[in-house]
Amino acid sequence: MDKTLRIVVKVGSNVLTRSDGSPDITIMSGIVDQIAELRREGHQVILVSSGAVACGRSMVRPSKRLDSAGQRQLFSAVGQIKLMTTYLSLFGGHGIPVGQVLTQKENFGSRLSYLNQRSCMEVMLDNGVIPIVNENDTASMTELMFTDNDELSGLIAAMMDADQLIILSNIDGIYTGSPDDPASRLIPVVGLGEDLSDHIVTTKSGFGRGGMGTKYGIARKLSEEGVKVIIANGRRQGILTGLVNRPGETPHTEFVPSDAPVSNIKRWIAHSASFAKGRLTVKDDAAALLRSDRAVSLLPVGISSVDGEWEEGDIVNIYAPDGSKIGVGRASADSAATLAQIGQHGGRPIVHYDYLFLE
Ligand code: GLU
Repeated sequence: MDKTLRIVVKVGSNVLTRSDGSPDITIMSGIVDQIAELRREGHQVILVSSGAVACGRSMVRPSKRLDSAGQRQLFSAVGQIKLMTTYLSLFGGHGIPVGQVLTQKENFGSRLSYLNQRSCMEVMLDNGVIPIVNENDTASMTELMFTDNDELSGLIAAMMDADQLIILSNIDGIYTGSPDDPASRLIPVVGLGEDLSDHIVTTKSGFGRGGMGTKYGIARKLSEEGVKVIIANGRRQGILTGLVNRPGETPHTEFVPSDAPVSNIKRWIAHSASFAKGRLTVKDDAAALLRSDRAVSLLPVGISSVDGEWEEGDIVNIYAPDGSKIGVGRASADSAATLAQIGQHGGRPIVHYDYLFLE
């Protein structure tokens, strides 16, 4: 092994839990053993683990009917402890300390809280602690939740400048058709920008919130930002060490990363569209310039309208006159100052190229 890697491993509920929702200790200990081995080889691992809700469901029976938010809160509160104590004892067997990182979407919304979260995980890694990340399901509100832990793992991989994101699901990867159809073939490699949407079967099964649709979306986005994404079967023995050390012999779907990595701040912006506070619509010629190969900033003269209210430094979405999305950026002026300058020549960029992510 010539290079040590920083790897984010995401494990879904359907991998970690049995059909009744209780933790599948055999699978969990297999995954932990492999992470311990990767660590011995010098790699850094961050684990994004689902399974809290599934575990909790197997442990507590609500005394009266609960809506889905109430169930999620109750089950995750109970199940998260079970999940973590299981990891604590399994990693403890290898002498590896673990730390719990519970997070929610709002923590990624401002650059300050984003950097705060990043430094927390850096300090854990520096001290040999494996961060085990999950969404804070007891606190997150339904409207503001991650689509699933696949989305969360993408944000973590981008935030931590990971070399690889390995998404462990209960199938080997993306197939040319339905995975149940014997005529379907596993797609081993997806080239940069290659469109597989016709092959994605969006039905999902079991406990997790995610499906292949989100996994595919995350994988495409991250590979464009320079992170290699792998989708593989977490229930296969030796899957993680196989993917890292013997990828040719290990079934999976790999998304080839761009060799022009995107800066960390642009990555943050790229993943922040859902936190945008406002919307800028630009003129036709500005839209064409922004979409060209040139590195251009958005100047007041190129803007035709402003919607929403934001502060300097907030995230805004940028649209073309035909309503198509151009990208997302960090505004260097608040909404009132932007409005006051619309269409004017000169002045500072409203969104500087360094803080602009084009779709
Ligand atoms: N955070 C949820 C849990 O731990 C899982 C979300 C998902 O299925 O992606 O149970």
